[in-house]
Amino acid sequence: MGISRLIILALLALAGWWLWKKTRALTQSGASRADATSTAMVCCQHCQLHLPQPDAIQYQNQWYCSQAHAQAGPKRP
Ligand SMILES: [Zn+2]
Repeated sequence: MGISRLIILALLALAGWWLWKKTRALTQSGASRADATSTAMVCCQHCQLHLPQPDAIQYQNQWYCSQAHAQAGPKRP
């Protein structure tokens, strides 16, 4: 067995480790995305858009999707 064969084996092991690490990172990010969807959802009082509470803006005890809608206030029927 020559040194070149050892280098190829080492490279294959490295590629395998890299792929394993990459797939593990992908499954972890997928899990965190599932966590994000399980967070409380709020409804924009202006356009009735549903969005996760951490992304929403609270203004005068009401939830809004954006700063512009917070300033516009609740939509009157
Ligand atoms: Zn809105």
